[in-house]
Amino acid sequence: MRAAVIHGPHDLRVEQRDEPTMGSGQVKVRVAAGGICGSDLHYYLHGGFGAVRLKEPMILGHEIAGTVVEIGTNVPDVQVGQKVAVNPSLPCGTCRYCQQGLQNQCLDMRFYGSAMRMPHVQGGFCDLLACEATQAVVVPDHVSLHEAAFAEPLAVCLHAVRRAGSLLGARVLVAGAGPIGVLTIAAARLAGAAEIVATDILDPPLAIARTMGADRTINVASEPDALSPYKAHKGSFDVMFEAAGGASTVLAGLELVRARGILVQVGQGAEVSLPMSLLVAKEIDLRGSFRFHKEFAMAAAAIAKRQIDVRPLLTDVVGLDQAGRAFELAADKSRSMKVHLQFT
Ligand code: ZN
Repeated sequence: MRAAVIHGPHDLRVEQRDEPTMGSGQVKVRVAAGGICGSDLHYYLHGGFGAVRLKEPMILGHEIAGTVVEIGTNVPDVQVGQKVAVNPSLPCGTCRYCQQGLQNQCLDMRFYGSAMRMPHVQGGFCDLLACEATQAVVVPDHVSLHEAAFAEPLAVCLHAVRRAGSLLGARVLVAGAGPIGVLTIAAARLAGAAEIVATDILDPPLAIARTMGADRTINVASEPDALSPYKAHKGSFDVMFEAAGGASTVLAGLELVRARGILVQVGQGAEVSLPMSLLVAKEIDLRGSFRFHKEFAMAAAAIAKRQIDVRPLLTDVVGLDQAGRAFELAADKSRSMKVHLQFT
């Protein structure tokens, strides 16, 4: 079978690999669609991010959907021929966090296409994938596998919304209109937000942000002062989701969120020096949000019911044999929202 393997910066190779063998409780999935995520891009462009560095070749990919082609023993709930979104997260189930229901904080997490541990956990950009049956979330036949492959990024956003608490009637700011930003807009709308303002430094993603439910969009590059009125009276927004991963965005957020407001940090990577006196005096809650657990099945269901229509995000579909071109496309934020690899 073919697999998209990253060897180092700008060194992505489509290689032949042995087909996976399957154990008890597992299913084999013929992968159809794989979304290129920001972390895949970091491996491709820079060989990693933060302290996470590529130390050996690794199959990329964790936004995966396909069709079940074989089931192992002791698999009661999945059948051959069913479409599935594959949950790339495999927590250990026994550590203290798993026992507390905080599986996204698992001390022994295996997450597809991640170089956080050695040996690296191989990803899902390959023709055939053997996974635990519990990772294979069945979606109805009417759902395209490209839509199903959005379950993972949407799960990230549902988790971020959960971290914020109730959004019913809330004024919400979403900073950064990449895939996570625009799916957070849709998730916040689903959760009852009354008003959603979205920002970015490019116009094309802001157009998609409006399609996904933003009431107002602001290009902070071309309209640098447009957010200023929202700083009046100690800030306007009940909740801000930071999905840009930028130091300046976080600092602006502390002025834009109202007193006792909540700033949910979803974007990764920025090193920020925080004006703690502002955070203290306004009693702002600064909350991280990382991955997801039960939100994966919720995301697959929301996509299947079209409670959240993910289709406006898919800007390109590229065959696996042109994986390098797909990654170059995905890196160009001015024209790409989400690029999918097509396997079959
Ligand atoms: Zn665990």
